[in-house]
Amino acid sequence: MFDKILIANRGEIALRVHRACKEMGISTVAVHSQADANAMHVRLADESVCIGPPQASKSYLHIPSIIAAAEITGAQAIHPGYGFLSENARFAEIVEKHGLVFIGPKPEHIRLMGDKITAKRAAAEAGIPVVPGSDGGVSTDEEARKVAKKIGYPVLIKAAAGGGGRGMKVARTPEALSEALATARAEARAAFGDDSVYIEKYLERPRHIEIQIVADSHGNVVHLGERDCSLQRRHQKIWEEAPSPALNPEQRAKIGETTAKAIAKLGYLGVGTVEYLYEDGKFYFIEMNTRLQVEHPVTEMITGVDLVREQIRIADGAPLSFSQADVTFEGCAIECRINAENPQTFTPSPGQITDYHPPGGLGVRLDSAIYAGYKIPPYYDSLIGKLIVHGRDRTEALMRLRRSLDEMVVNGVDTTIPLFQRLAVEPEIANGDYHIHWLEQFLKANG
Ligand code: ADP
Repeated sequence: MFDKILIANRGEIALRVHRACKEMGISTVAVHSQADANAMHVRLADESVCIGPPQASKSYLHIPSIIAAAEITGAQAIHPGYGFLSENARFAEIVEKHGLVFIGPKPEHIRLMGDKITAKRAAAEAGIPVVPGSDGGVSTDEEARKVAKKIGYPVLIKAAAGGGGRGMKVARTPEALSEALATARAEARAAFGDDSVYIEKYLERPRHIEIQIVADSHGNVVHLGERDCSLQRRHQKIWEEAPSPALNPEQRAKIGETTAKAIAKLGYLGVGTVEYLYEDGKFYFIEMNTRLQVEHPVTEMITGVDLVREQIRIADGAPLSFSQADVTFEGCAIECRINAENPQTFTPSPGQITDYHPPGGLGVRLDSAIYAGYKIPPYYDSLIGKLIVHGRDRTEALMRLRRSLDEMVVNGVDTTIPLFQRLAVEPEIANGDYHIHWLEQFLKANG
């Protein structure tokens, strides 16, 4: 097993990885920008290296500085967390070329799934159901019109290099198609430097349901059930839960097995998430994320599996510590992504946290790197913590969510806690009766 791991990330996820390392007796190296010198991930790590100025492009995304930090400290492996370099195939290759271990999938799979067009094709070939749409990219308006006519309106134009919900445009009529195409292309070019787009049938009321996969280098692939991430704003998840209120055990086992089988066919290694839209009892693949996800804790809470520990063991060549038959699902877990943002306008609210009181008690987990006196820098995303609650059933999880949101104190900056307090008492959410457009409609109606 590794003695020392470098964590190429910041914030709550850097802490999350640090915690798994400590439990395994592995020492940790934190890297940080000048803006993060006092960050909790730096304070807790065994060693730390400043890798550059505040801008992520010059620090957390700057590959030579991260490799140098690993070499100077003698780290044997690098955990990329999520975001930043976690889905950068070139980074994974460079890490390996320097004799270090990349804690993640093989570069070829990161690359395959990083392009949504090749990902969708590979998924379909491996036996995964996909959303009806163009077979590959569309290059002309003419081609787009043909596809749209065949699958029927409304259609969704999506960027091949897409991520974070950017580069997506809906066209409801043939007249709107050209403009939607041009806008999606322009957005994709600006955000990803690649304006390839493809077309999909736009689903009106689906849920977002994703399957967690774990695969080792001995040919074992296990699924850990699903997460329901249908509560989204601007195609970004804000509330995730496991299990999904919409699936029964038979449906869970069926989609889990189909997914695990397909992933085994691809020869995938490490943890991964296959994302689906689910409507009228049918699953449609949208993408695969080849990394640990923000919402992984809800799966951990209902299965008891430490996903980061499994990642590290897999990277070290060990077989999975459990088989499919060992996996059981206990109760219900809900996660809220708490951001330092105005809860009405969603404007980021960087600044100093004056008071901080984390909620606690039975079934409450808070993954966060903030502390009283911490100054949230303006350079990075506004996630300041993930509140995760677990209950024997969904009713108990919701009770716990309401009381822990009421208990949590973060003063000095705006946070989205008040939004979650509103959502946690909404009857439709309590009934589990919501879909991917529910939150946008709720925000429009309730301001
Ligand atoms: P990204 O990588 O940008 O997050 P995804 O393909 O994962 O893009 O899609 C993000 C979200 O966009 C989904 O969870 C869903 O809410 C919405 N979406 C994607 N594809 C469709 C579709 N065909 N119909 C309706 N909504 C969609």
